[in-house]
Amino acid sequence: QKTDLLLFGPRKRLIENGFSDSFRLHSAVDDTSLAQLPAEVAERVRGIGVTSLVPLRAAQLARFPRLEIIATFGVGYDHIDLGYAREHRIVVTNTPDVLTEEVADTALGLLIATLREFIQADRYVRCGLWQTQNYPLSVGSLRDRKVGMVGMGRIGQAIARRLDASRVPVVYHCRNRVAGMLYPYYADLVAMARDVDTLMVITPGGASTAKLINAEVLQALGPRGVLINVARGSVVDEPALIQALRSGTILAAGLDVFADEPNVPEELRAMSNVVLLPHIGSASVVTRNAMDQLVVDNLKAWFAGKPPLTPVVETPVWSR
Ligand code: NDP
Repeated sequence: QKTDLLLFGPRKRLIENGFSDSFRLHSAVDDTSLAQLPAEVAERVRGIGVTSLVPLRAAQLARFPRLEIIATFGVGYDHIDLGYAREHRIVVTNTPDVLTEEVADTALGLLIATLREFIQADRYVRCGLWQTQNYPLSVGSLRDRKVGMVGMGRIGQAIARRLDASRVPVVYHCRNRVAGMLYPYYADLVAMARDVDTLMVITPGGASTAKLINAEVLQALGPRGVLINVARGSVVDEPALIQALRSGTILAAGLDVFADEPNVPEELRAMSNVVLLPHIGSASVVTRNAMDQLVVDNLKAWFAGKPPLTPVVETPVWSR
């Protein structure tokens, strides 16, 4: 008897080739093809490997009565309906750790690119403007800055280590003070924003962080302020950010994530004081391969009767 698995999202060779003959693989690249999956297939599916951030809500999951495990790609899992999973004793796994250093590299690179205007300067060279005059001095600099981390988990700590090496003071905000951590802690985000000039956002998405970075926080950050968001677009009130950038309430922003990806507001695209990345925090071949492999390994472990390797905390690991 073969185990039926569904791969949901863009097709990945490493995942498709990762399973032995004892598995039967089905594929749905997007919502439309998921809806078209024949009912007799959906009824047999016992595991789903997810390679996209398209939401998997109760309405879609209800089609899989035998589902035991959802192995999603990426460390964020706000696109999976955890309430449904818990209620139906479905284990959810993600791919933490293997992407931590890559995302931290991206975050620091984005911070420096935003401050020192690397992308704008690259455009300057390409249009031949250097022949006419030197690029103007950047107003921003990493020197004399203090960074407030919003989120101090695995990736937040890896970013903080890089800031230590660059001799930039770090403070942090999250809901619970991290035991043994020497960086100063702020329970109040607005108070932290007032005391720093740079915010580095690296929390999960979802309801608890929705629009955490709002007009009041940006106002507190002030006119030297720089916002870097490598978390989720939902964490920032995007219209409030656009307004703050336009009015000079803050200086600049570097964004890897947006409220409605891949749609980026025209106002942001037209601004010269922002650096915009297409959600590439972990997007290198080496790191994405490691993430793909972890999706495979979680599913294989589960169907070999072993505990999944990286279950999320919200769904207990029930025995099968
Ligand atoms: P962790 O779970 O290790 O850390 C999450 C941190 O966020 C913790 O410090 C947590 O502290 C804090 N946090 C959670 N909820 C809140 C809240 N409501 N208010 C303030 N702080 C909060 O996760 P990782 O560091 O591994 O990953 C963090 C996130 O980064 C992912 O969930 C994902 O959204 C994003 N990410 C983005 C990528 C990209 O490509 N741009 C790639 C990878 C990850 P506490 O619980 O005490 O509040």
